[in-house]
Amino acid sequence: RQNTNSIVFLKGGIFMIINWFPGHMAKARRLIEENLRLVDVAIELVDARIPWSSTNPMISKLINQKPCILVLNKSDLADKAVLDEWIAYYKTQGRTVIAMDSKGGAGVKQLLGAIRQLAAPKLARWKARGLKTRSVRTIILGIPNVGKSTLINRLAHRNVAKTADRPGETKGKQWVHLGDKLELLDTPGVLWPKLENQVSAYRLAATGAISDTVFDMETVITQLITALSTYYPEQLKTRFKLDELFADPFETIELIGRKRGCIISGGVVDIEKTYKMILKDYREGKIGAISLDRPDEFDEGEPS
Ligand code: GDP
Repeated sequence: RQNTNSIVFLKGGIFMIINWFPGHMAKARRLIEENLRLVDVAIELVDARIPWSSTNPMISKLINQKPCILVLNKSDLADKAVLDEWIAYYKTQGRTVIAMDSKGGAGVKQLLGAIRQLAAPKLARWKARGLKTRSVRTIILGIPNVGKSTLINRLAHRNVAKTADRPGETKGKQWVHLGDKLELLDTPGVLWPKLENQVSAYRLAATGAISDTVFDMETVITQLITALSTYYPEQLKTRFKLDELFADPFETIELIGRKRGCIISGGVVDIEKTYKMILKDYREGKIGAISLDRPDEFDEGEPS
């Protein structure tokens, strides 16, 4: 696969983006604009663990005034208390927000109800003008790996291979029947994550949102361990059977490696292997239900 959007994390948490082709972004945008014209309600999917980092502000711009539902997906992997704070935060912004687990199925009913509710004024307008009502149409938008295909397949009650997951790519337009006069566009709208700041970039890497990424594991894991030590010390200790955590994340990582037997000859910790193991455990929710973005970090939309 062509690597269209790679990030290289340099030592010290600095990253740079390589292989960025503006043409692809323009194409993805155009396609979303075209598809949005066909729908009545838009659904933006973000990762419930990092709702702020996993949104692309361009999606909101493209959706513009159209009724929109914000879905905090993978809520099964998020910290429930922080998730509730995010929901309250988005509600104060006047947004329709739903927590979902597309894999397990939680939230589907609520989502269908919200689509109908947001489409109701349009239906009423059609009726008032004596127009024959057609189905309410909707589309799912989001950055790669937030669960768009999983949600489409769940709503469609099917188990099929991924639909287009590359920004700017599409297959023939098809509508999935979701119930009485309710249809979903088979092709999700995909945009890359925004990658505007270092903090969001590491969180996207940690959650696996940037799959085609070349990144410096050390930077990502040390930041992850620092966040876990601050907000989830007990879960971190329990998962890796640690008696203590250190102020220096490297010391904690080394201890994790030792406890897990990631040792190379001479009793030295195999640090690369330890990094990979920590990342895998985090992504699979083995350390616990953990959120990395928290509403209280943000001041006027920027991380403080
Ligand atoms: P897309 O690129 O946005 O279409 O994302 P996919 O639907 O391919 O999902 C990416 C990964 O996230 C897959 O491994 C899914 O099984 C997983 N996934 C999707 N939704 C959820 C969810 O709600 N909870 C959990 N735990 N995993 C999910």
